Amino acid sequence: MKDIIIIGGGPAGLSAGIYASRLGADTLILEKLTPGGQITLSSEIENYPGVCESKSGIEFMACWPEQAKKFGCEILSEEVTQIKEDKGFLVKTPSNEYRAKAIIVATGATPKRAGFEGEEEFTGKGVSYCAVCDGFFYKDKVVAVIGGGDTALEEALYLSKITKKVYLIHRRDKFRAAPVTQKKVFNTQNIEIIFNATVKKVLGNEFVEGIILNLNGEEKKLKVDGIFVFVGMKVNSELVKDLVELNEWDEIKVDLNMQTSLKGLFAAGDVRENSVKQVVAAAGDGAVAAINAIKYIEKEEK
Ligand code: NAP
Repeated sequence: MKDIIIIGGGPAGLSAGIYASRLGADTLILEKLTPGGQITLSSEIENYPGVCESKSGIEFMACWPEQAKKFGCEILSEEVTQIKEDKGFLVKTPSNEYRAKAIIVATGATPKRAGFEGEEEFTGKGVSYCAVCDGFFYKDKVVAVIGGGDTALEEALYLSKITKKVYLIHRRDKFRAAPVTQKKVFNTQNIEIIFNATVKKVLGNEFVEGIILNLNGEEKKLKVDGIFVFVGMKVNSELVKDLVELNEWDEIKVDLNMQTSLKGLFAAGDVRENSVKQVVAAAGDGAVAAINAIKYIEKEEK
């Protein structure tokens, strides 16, 4: 039996792994994809304290798994399909079963769909959710970015350096992104902002060739080669929805120790209630969850 199983290998999970294993707990991280989390989709990190020169998400996360392994943390590529309470916890994956005294859920969030006609059909054929992964394919081309939050504006800035032109399409007439980012966007020549507009439909045969916008109640056709959607995140809490209390947005409720409503099961990072969805906060959550998971185990074993 492991002391702690951490589900998810993003900043929260890896930080929990570093803290738990360094404090001597026998720790396993289960991550269905490659460790690093959704921050590896970001083109630039410039607000993580101590990182004075901005880095891509991939560069920034590169050594986190190594740091965890250095302290003895095991990291496996397996998707957790079920967690059960059973003399501690039983964790199932398609090929294995693991037992642990405590669990830390750090499953993060995934990008939301905007909901326009053709979005699913053209995903990977001109519709993308990751500028750093796909931006290169649009060198000197025209793209649309959908959304008005920090992600949409930051990625629009990134894409403006690669592409010929970026249409930034937002459903209201005000952005919710940080003022400093808005200022950069307003000062970028090849970003054209279209407020009060939503995408109605994708045009194209095999690949995206354009979009039809609903602009102030009227239809407008735009010729674009790609569409980047950044309209927020959906938390990945399905795995524990029958075990712990969630709030109205399906975020896991926790106390200040990252303890959920089920003793021994902790949550950290973007998946928990009131998360500010920042890497630095996720890393902090991971440390808090790991320290308190160890305290919980020690108390149970007394
Ligand atoms: P977000 O802040 O929730 O913004 C989502 C944007 O998409 C909003 O502008 C929203 O419009 C729009 N939207 C939502 N559903 C839509 C739909 N169906 N069709 C068209 N537009 C739609 O999401 P985010 O930008 O991914 O950011 C998530 C969190 O991470 C935020 O807390 C953000 O501050 C943080 N973040 C921080 C940084 C940073 O500090 N460097 C970078 C990235 C993200 P409305 O405005 O009308 O609601």
